[in-house]
Amino acid sequence: MHQALLWRQWSPQVTLLVHRGAAPAGEEAAQLAARGITVVDGPVAGLEVTGDALAGVRLASGQVIALDALVVSTRMSARSGVLRSLGLEPVDVEMGGHVVGAQIPADPTGATAVPGVWVAGNVADLRAQVITAAAAGVQAGAAINADLVAEDTRVAVEAHRTAAAAA
Ligand SMILES: Cc1cc2nc3c(=O)[nH]c(=O)nc-3n(C[C@H](O)[C@H](O)[C@H](O)COP(=O)(O)OP(=O)(O)OC[C@H]3O[C@@H](n4cnc5c(N)ncnc54)[C@H](O)[C@@H]3O)c2cc1C
Repeated sequence: MHQALLWRQWSPQVTLLVHRGAAPAGEEAAQLAARGITVVDGPVAGLEVTGDALAGVRLASGQVIALDALVVSTRMSARSGVLRSLGLEPVDVEMGGHVVGAQIPADPTGATAVPGVWVAGNVADLRAQVITAAAAGVQAGAAINADLVAEDTRVAVEAHRTAAAAA
């Protein structure tokens, strides 16, 4: 639904191929109809190619739907192998009732559930764009520096107290 309505911003001719999903009903069907988006039910079996160009899709029923372009919604999965090895598991992210991907949970500074591990950018926020991913990197950098300052200070205080006790 979200993507069909997004594409409708750019083209008055949008067809939603339901493929193996549930056909929109109720309010969703009303929204698509109101925006002039054609809904085609049934699984897509293949592409129709003329010369070297896309001409449409062929449904399992044999019906051919003519198209100039075809968009397939994707799922975004953070490459989290390194983080998994540190004990962090990605969690599913839902949008409109659909799982759109997975990300590593973190607080606003990027701190994860594992002490000493911060995350920033798409690995922590699937929806982040370049500017927000970069800003999250700055936040995490500042938080990591603050953590190092606190660690240096804790070690210095211990050494200071030990030296004072010995004196
Ligand atoms: C199709 C598409 C279009 C987009 N268009 C826009 C746009 O127009 N404007 C916009 O602002 N944003 C856009 N974005 C979003 C933007 O790309 C991201 O927000 C941004 O790249 C996030 O930066 P990042 O550093 O978090 O992740 P990435 O840019 O994905 O960088 C992560 C890097 O880490 C590397 N990596 C992963 N695991 C390891 C490992 N174990 N060891 C070493 N390296 C590793 C990866 O190879 C990758 O290079 C778009 C994204 C996509 C997919």
